[in-house]
Amino acid sequence: MIAVIDLPRQIDAELAADIEKESAFVSPFLHRLRVTGGRGAVELEIAGRAKDAEVQGKVERFLDAMLKRVHRFEPRIFQHNERRDDGPFATGVHDELKRRGWLFDYGNGHVALSGPALALAQLIDAKAAELYAQHFQATPRSFPAMVDAKILHRCGYFDSHPNAVSFVGHMIEDFDGIEAFRQANSCAAAPQMPEAGHVHLPGLCLNPAACFACYPTLEGQRIGEQGAAFTWQGRVFRYESRNIAGLDRLWEFNVRELVLVGGEQHVADCRRRVLPVIGALAETFDLECRIETASDPFFATVSAARTFWQRAQEVKNEIMLAVEPGPDGAARALACGSINLHGQFFGDRFEIMTEGGGTAATSCVGLGIERWVLAGFSQHGFDAERWPAEVRRAIFG
Ligand SMILES: [Zn+2]
Repeated sequence: MIAVIDLPRQIDAELAADIEKESAFVSPFLHRLRVTGGRGAVELEIAGRAKDAEVQGKVERFLDAMLKRVHRFEPRIFQHNERRDDGPFATGVHDELKRRGWLFDYGNGHVALSGPALALAQLIDAKAAELYAQHFQATPRSFPAMVDAKILHRCGYFDSHPNAVSFVGHMIEDFDGIEAFRQANSCAAAPQMPEAGHVHLPGLCLNPAACFACYPTLEGQRIGEQGAAFTWQGRVFRYESRNIAGLDRLWEFNVRELVLVGGEQHVADCRRRVLPVIGALAETFDLECRIETASDPFFATVSAARTFWQRAQEVKNEIMLAVEPGPDGAARALACGSINLHGQFFGDRFEIMTEGGGTAATSCVGLGIERWVLAGFSQHGFDAERWPAEVRRAIFG
C-alpha cells in the first residue's frame, strides 16, 4: 500500500537523498520511501501485511530526527586533480567486469576480483603503502577482521552507527540444539539457519572501520616527538541493507589504512601533508579526484548534532573520485576514502600518551580499494591504451 506524509517544509536535494538512503533502516515492512518531486512530502510503499500505523509512526520519528540536520554546507575543496585521459566515461562497469570474469559477485555486497581488476586493486594498495612509507615512515601492521564489542563500544561506534554493525554468532554449546541444526541441513535443498534461541552473540563483531583495531595495541604507550605512523590493508564490514549496490556500496570491502599518532600539532601537520600525497596517488592512476569537507553517515537520531560538529570543525575530508554516471546520466563522484582528524578522542579512550606526558592525538586515512577500482575502470574504460603506461603494463600485462 502507498501512503503520503507531508513534510513541515520543503527540503534541499542533499537532505532528500540522505532521507531516501537512510530510510532502509526504518522498518522491514517499509519497502521504499521516496521524496516527492517538490521535496515537500514523502511517499511510502508499505508491505501489505504490515500494520500501517506502526510503520508510519516509525517513519514520522525517523523524519523528525532527520529534519533536525543542518545542511547547505558548501564543501571546501582542498585538492583537485584533473585526469589527462579525455575519453568518455565507461558505463555498466560492474556488469562488464563480471562478463570478462574479472569480478565474481556473490550477492549481498561481497565480491571476488581476478585478472586486471585484481591487479589494479593490488597496485592501488601497494602504491598507497609505498607513498605512506616514503612520506610518513609508516610501519606495516596487520589486524584481524573480528573486533571485540568492548573496543567498538570504547570507540563510540554503537552510539553513532548502530545500524551498520555486523555481529558474529555461534551455536550455543547444546548437544540437542546442534544436532537439530545438523539434521535440518542434512537433507535440505537450501541452508537452514538455527533458531535464534540456539545462537549466541559472544560480543564479537566484524570490524566496521579499519583503524579501530590499531588503538588497543597502543594502549599505555608513550609516542615520541616524531610521532608514529602505521599502515596496513584491513577488511571492513558495514551493513548497508537495501542500499547495497555493485562496487559502489559493498558490505565487505578492503581498506588501505594509515594511522598517525603524536602531539596535536604533529598530527595536524601530517593531515596537511597527506593531501598532496593522495593527489600523487590519483595522479599515478590518472584519476579525476577532489578532496573536500564531509561528515559521517551517522544514524538518524545522532546525525544532526554530529554532522554539524564534523562539518563546522572540518575534521573529516572525503576523497571524491569521479565514477560512471548514474541512471539519469548525470556526472557522479563517489567517496573513495576519507581523511579524519580525531583530536584526542582515541588517545583518551585508550590512554595513548605523548612523551611530554599529554594525551596523544590521532588521525587516519582510509582508502576503499574496490571503489578506487570502480573509479579506474569508469574513467579509463576497458581499452588498455587509455590507461597510464606504467599502470597499463602492471594490470594488462
Ligand atoms: Zn580510521
